[in-house]
Amino acid sequence: MTETRDDANGWQPSQRYPDPSVISLDPRFEQYRLPLAGVERLATGCRWCEGPVWFGDGRYLLWSDIPNNRIMRWDEVTGQSSAFRQPSNFANGQTRDRQGRLITCEHGGRRVTRTEYDGSLTMLAESFEGKRLSSPNDVIVKSDGSIWFTDPPFGILGNYEGHRAEPELGQNVYRLDPDTGALSIVADDILGPNGLAFSPDETVLYIVESRGVPTRKILAYDVNKDGASIRNKRVLIDAGPGTPDGFRVDADGNLWCGWGMGEAELDGVMIFAPDGTPIGRIALPERCANVCFGGRANSRLFMAASHSIYALYVNVAGVTGG
Ligand code: MG
Repeated sequence: MTETRDDANGWQPSQRYPDPSVISLDPRFEQYRLPLAGVERLATGCRWCEGPVWFGDGRYLLWSDIPNNRIMRWDEVTGQSSAFRQPSNFANGQTRDRQGRLITCEHGGRRVTRTEYDGSLTMLAESFEGKRLSSPNDVIVKSDGSIWFTDPPFGILGNYEGHRAEPELGQNVYRLDPDTGALSIVADDILGPNGLAFSPDETVLYIVESRGVPTRKILAYDVNKDGASIRNKRVLIDAGPGTPDGFRVDADGNLWCGWGMGEAELDGVMIFAPDGTPIGRIALPERCANVCFGGRANSRLFMAASHSIYALYVNVAGVTGG
């Protein structure tokens, strides 16, 4: 993909190690940063990058470029990017199920789809009790095959990232049962539910409250023994002036969160320990919406940040299903 715009901030990868854009905020972060790894920009020229998902079997990354109504593909072998699906029905969050199939949230289709092995799309969820979903935003798959996704109205507020429409349902978080295909609401009291992820042992579910007042938050819930419902809502992280959107969890339970908006010094990725303490930060020249782990050993962090995709090798692997 050609670079269609010069970076407004004149950003260049650091030539020196350690990369000064990888910042330790707590001694706990030191074990995760690699002194001989730096932030790289893999692609640029998009309008709003989201939904990164890694395919180790094909050695490529997919991500959504929502306003351009396309899913992009970056090839690890050639380093080249190209359109994977266009139009994409304004695809947003993505992941893979436990059979490796691509799961995609669509603003335009107001649904969640699965891409089958032959490339055809299967609609998994588009309505609840006869009312249309709003604009599914982000999605994860639990080890039991259930699919959990958030459904704020962001994608139908205008025509830039979908098709303007009135919401028919509240701002819910849903669980799709893997056996029956039935949808159930697992949370209905979150202001702008957005990114979500389980702790490595799936006993805790984290959900970003991206319209929290007066500040945005990352909430934590305990997962009930049934594996299908949650309880004990609490604030794990108060984002203050920051804007969390999507995030992933590593094998040690740390949260790697896309961050930014407002002040340039907030742009990038914030890393929090399982207790919610900020332990590290990756400074980027653009607001980061979402991340995923991938690459060999699942220890390369891919960052979907506004116009561009960035990557950084780290010393921890992401958990499956994020
Ligand atoms: Mg999101």
